[in-house]
Amino acid sequence: MSLKLESNAIRAELARIQFRTQAFIDGRFSPAAGGKTYAVPNPANGRPLAEVAACERADVDRAVAAARRAFESGVWSRMNPADRKKILLKFAARIEAHAGEIALLDALSAGKPIVDCVTIDLPDTVHCLAWHAELIDKLYERTAPTGPNNPALIVREPIGVVGVIVPWNFPVQMTAWKIGPALAAGNSVVLKPAKQTPFSAIRLAELAAEAGIPDGVFNVVPGLGGVVGQAICRHGDVDMAAFTGSTAVGRELLRYSAESNLKRVILELGGKSPQVVLADAPDLDGVAAHVVNAAFWNMGENCSSGSRLIVHRRLKEPLVERLIGIVKDWKTGDPVDPETRMGPMIESSHGEKVMGYIATGSKEGAVLAHGGRRLLPESGGFYVETTIFDEVKNSMTIAREEIFGPVLAVIPVESDEEAVAVANDTPYGLAASLYSKDVGRAHRVARALRAGTVSVNCYSEGDVTTPFGGFKESGFFGRDKSVYAHEQYSELKTIWLQL
Ligand code: NAP
Ligand code: MG
Repeated sequence: MSLKLESNAIRAELARIQFRTQAFIDGRFSPAAGGKTYAVPNPANGRPLAEVAACERADVDRAVAAARRAFESGVWSRMNPADRKKILLKFAARIEAHAGEIALLDALSAGKPIVDCVTIDLPDTVHCLAWHAELIDKLYERTAPTGPNNPALIVREPIGVVGVIVPWNFPVQMTAWKIGPALAAGNSVVLKPAKQTPFSAIRLAELAAEAGIPDGVFNVVPGLGGVVGQAICRHGDVDMAAFTGSTAVGRELLRYSAESNLKRVILELGGKSPQVVLADAPDLDGVAAHVVNAAFWNMGENCSSGSRLIVHRRLKEPLVERLIGIVKDWKTGDPVDPETRMGPMIESSHGEKVMGYIATGSKEGAVLAHGGRRLLPESGGFYVETTIFDEVKNSMTIAREEIFGPVLAVIPVESDEEAVAVANDTPYGLAASLYSKDVGRAHRVARALRAGTVSVNCYSEGDVTTPFGGFKESGFFGRDKSVYAHEQYSELKTIWLQL
């Protein structure tokens, strides 16, 4: 059930909350083979939430073996499509029935505002899983235009055992974006959640089993990236690794694949996404609302965060004034408070890194127009104020590097051409948005921007029907969501017949 966004309802759910802390392998909970655990803290106050199984290579081996067994048995991989659909829809319904609980698990461990977990992450998770389930018995395969004596079928088959590695910023939602298409296509999955946010994924594995997903098909192995993540991605019996996270770790995965079994690797990585406001942008109040959301939603801990505002000089002042007017009302505080829009940074080391970027921004000559301070230090969490730098040059560090915090760089430009050149002058290419009244002009600029998703007159990541992923160093090969994601988790096979 969805959670009522009201203090009493949240308190009642908090009193009931239980943390699943073990690995889920072959349909059962189990402690780490080595018996080790690690503490997961609440980023809002630094206090431990629970001790979680610190799995290692032996646990990965066991999970991969279970996944392989399930795959080869055909119990899921060769199940009638309509039956697989039915079970996955049941899985989505189970998540929906526990949406409030799962939203809280993410809010508590990731420091995400509960309002976002309840209104965005959980509905999107349920919809994503149901959408990929629905696709299963609606996709047709092909025959090739061969001669009469050689009918040839072009079919898609599940790829096998898929390793999934997800980050902490959208724990359950990123899990759904990967396992939705991977399970729908008939694969077995071994998932490693981020060390900070293991709870929702483990809970999902339990709900999957309750929905009838057979043992071994969906396994969750918590632990450290360098240990569990690496063991999955180097494993000789894992056929594919699907990853969302940093560009640095993404590069490592390509190396692991090259050094092991050439498993397929798809990567969704970081970004430095531009928000381009052309001189004829409509309705500055509306633009400002989108720009603030793009920059500061999820504390800026968002791969598609619109962290560079590239604005025609004529509009810069009135727009920045409006941005400040809006962010002033964003409440910073405990993520489980339904009024909170800004929670803490995921951990204090990350908060320090963000503060370091703010110091660098001022040192390199950008003008601090709003924010820039650490807030609520007495809470035990690391909260950073929404921060806006004006008169930024695209060559400055804060315009080049992904900060992954609430820091917006405002870069004035004089023309559409300059706007596009500045927007594209980055190693990243995940998302972009642009604002213009003129459809033709907007379309020309949308085509010129080198990014996987370009939204016009809004900030959006599209919906489940549209592919999401990056150009340049924001990704490798992969797209999440849509029929394109579904296809990625399968192999293409030709069956050539001689009559
Ligand atoms: P990260 O450090 O790359 O971690 C992502 C995942 O990889 C975590 O589960 C992590 O485990 C694991 N990992 C770490 N080292 C590994 C290794 N050597 N082998 C295999 N797995 C390993 O990223 P993060 O700091 O958690 O998340 C922030 C980054 O993700 C940002 O750069 C952001 O842009 C990107 N991101 C991209 C998208 C997208 O769709 N493109 C979406 C969200 C986030 P641990 O938890 O143990 O470190
Ligand atoms: Mg990390």
